[in-house]
Amino acid sequence: MSMEIKSIQKDSLDKLFNSLKSRGNLIYAPVKVKNEVQFDFVEKFEQITDDFIQTTQSVKNSVFPKIETLFKFVKTGKEVKMLDMDMSLIPEIVIWGIHPCDVWGFDSLRAIFTWDTHDMFFEKRMDKLTIIGMSCAKADDYCFCTSVNLGPGSTKGSDVLLTKTGNGDYIAELVSDKGKALATSMPDVFVQAVQSKKEDFLVVVEKRFDSESLIPKMQKKETFDSPFWVTNSLRCLGCGACAYVCPTCACFDIQDEGYGARNIRFRCWDSCGLKQFTIHTSGHNPREVQSQRWRQRLMHKFAYMPERNKVTGCVGCGKCSRACPVDMNIAEQLQEIDQKM
Ligand code: SF4
Ligand code: SF4
Repeated sequence: MSMEIKSIQKDSLDKLFNSLKSRGNLIYAPVKVKNEVQFDFVEKFEQITDDFIQTTQSVKNSVFPKIETLFKFVKTGKEVKMLDMDMSLIPEIVIWGIHPCDVWGFDSLRAIFTWDTHDMFFEKRMDKLTIIGMSCAKADDYCFCTSVNLGPGSTKGSDVLLTKTGNGDYIAELVSDKGKALATSMPDVFVQAVQSKKEDFLVVVEKRFDSESLIPKMQKKETFDSPFWVTNSLRCLGCGACAYVCPTCACFDIQDEGYGARNIRFRCWDSCGLKQFTIHTSGHNPREVQSQRWRQRLMHKFAYMPERNKVTGCVGCGKCSRACPVDMNIAEQLQEIDQKM
């Protein structure tokens, strides 16, 4: 798909926001909350900040909510009546100011949720998204997007990607048909492109390893059997924080909850890093110790998903390492595997 480039003057960005809002969209954007920046639904343009490296949480809950009711069921005597959820209630959401790594997280999720059966909840929510990405002007030592074939100005997955230039105006890359239609509908906001080179305004993120060379190493039996996993997971608490903040982790549990005759079946986030994730009813646990669970997390992302889903299950955002209470650093570990295995 060919891409068109426009620009948005700094004083016109609020017009874009107000216009999207007036069309009935919910806008999910980064806002300051105490010392952190988190995505939240916003009512006013002034609530939004672009002054952050990464939000603590990803935005995956917009398409894969922490808790999602799958259906309701009513019991009357021995009769059970199933009630489907009303999918028409899923709202149109604009995700505003999301960084390229987080955007590409949706692609990993899509690979998981459409691999065998197509998950209608996920697909419906994805259809309702408009993604306005924002290139990265800042990074920290946890960022490693360039190691997994992305970058601070990657357009992959965005409908429109904005890059802030030196004078505060934005380069607007119209990536998808949805992005082009948006620009066509607002000719006073998306104006003639300026002669600026996007790369001049992007942060440089050094490559830590090469995922192309790492993946075959992760798929070797010797790597699976290596003492590396024990040595490098001894301090892991198995708390699951890394999975909950990750834009691509998609483990979930399904449970029923009853309120007398009225009941719901829901799914909720889970993590392969948690001891109970694989425990059998017999009490046997095929991943008995934390090193096996840590290995599973990394193997799933860099060995099994590339083979089965044809994508890497990691976008190099570093959220897991920033959130880890005992400083387990995924980029350092992947770098070591790439260099030594
Ligand atoms: S956040 Fe850290 S301690 Fe918690 S499960 Fe993940 S790696 Fe282990
Ligand atoms: S594994 Fe860590 S670095 Fe990779 S996508 Fe998930 S949170 Fe980001």
